[in-house]
Amino acid sequence: MKYDRIYNFSAGPAIMPEEVLEEVRDEVMNYRGSGMSVMEMSHRSKMFIQIAEEAEADLRELMGIPDNYKVLFIQGGATLQFSMIPMNLMKNGKAVYIETGAWSKKAIAEAKKVGEVIVAASSADKNYSYIPDCSDLDIPEDADYVYICENETIHGSTFNQLPNTKGHILVSDQSSMFLSRLCNVADYGMIYGGVQKNIGPAGLAIVIIREDLIRDDLKSLPAYLQYKSHADADSMYNTPNCWGIYVCGKVFKYLKSIGGLEAMYQRNLDKANLLYNFLDSSKIFRSTVAPADRSLMNVPFVTESKELDAEVVAYTKAAGFENLKGHRSVGGLRASIYNAMPAEGVAALVDCLKRFEAERG
Ligand SMILES: *Cc1c(COP(=O)(O)O)cnc(C)c1O
Repeated sequence: MKYDRIYNFSAGPAIMPEEVLEEVRDEVMNYRGSGMSVMEMSHRSKMFIQIAEEAEADLRELMGIPDNYKVLFIQGGATLQFSMIPMNLMKNGKAVYIETGAWSKKAIAEAKKVGEVIVAASSADKNYSYIPDCSDLDIPEDADYVYICENETIHGSTFNQLPNTKGHILVSDQSSMFLSRLCNVADYGMIYGGVQKNIGPAGLAIVIIREDLIRDDLKSLPAYLQYKSHADADSMYNTPNCWGIYVCGKVFKYLKSIGGLEAMYQRNLDKANLLYNFLDSSKIFRSTVAPADRSLMNVPFVTESKELDAEVVAYTKAAGFENLKGHRSVGGLRASIYNAMPAEGVAALVDCLKRFEAERG
């Protein structure tokens, strides 16, 4: 393979498009005649402001973000948002959370430090291997929002239908599925995610938030923790993650060049189907997630035993496939097949697993 790169199935930080890495390489010593790299550039310079504005404009175009939503680039990853969300959005001090795995549990734990959390549905009874029915949730009238982790990176489940929030605003963690499919932003009050799973380098979260949810009555909240500070300053309240914004901007342009999110979704669907169809027909491997709720991005799978799982991990590693060991809470294996994973990578993995099965069979 070009540059001796391997097929990297890491859950995050994760694989990026080679086209983007090549462009970054070409610009690293001298960005477009500036005589410096974007790493060395003032965030107040004309050149960088243009990079940031273009990144936002391209993201708006890709996702069709309505004008009454702000796009914010904030540091602290997705994890800081676990706290910022309740701090900023809990007006009545009460919110509804859907518990579908490790990441929603972490969000719940942080929200409980701020106010009352009502877990209206959970899939804990079956180790988070499915998405609970959210069509008729018990939502108190005065709940401030309904929260979901739309794609659970560790457990490999995804919401194919959004919860019926009964008029309440929906807040979604899209970290591991950002830009993997079409998304109707108007269905949400806020969408956010860390970018290091499906977009760019670590160290940046993107927040898409409806303007009327940005409050100016939170005077005692530290400024950095208020969405208003970031919104008023066009995400330059302090020095932003310039490098992250620059590389993400390139990924947005790359996605536009291949036909946008509809085309990306089609590719992702084909890749995921290839892998799931193999798992469903295999005699030794099986998917751990209910068929209707399977993620297109993170595919956990197991054999009949821990010992055999470990053998498969070693076998795939020897064949040049990295980061296939499953998260310790699920065990087995996990293939993260994000946007940047080429179809050939998934096909090669399936061939490798077939070889293993044939040798064992
Ligand atoms: C990785 C991940 C996070 C945490 O992201 P950080 O940027 O490391 O804070 C949160 N939610 C989901 C769904 C994730 O996959």
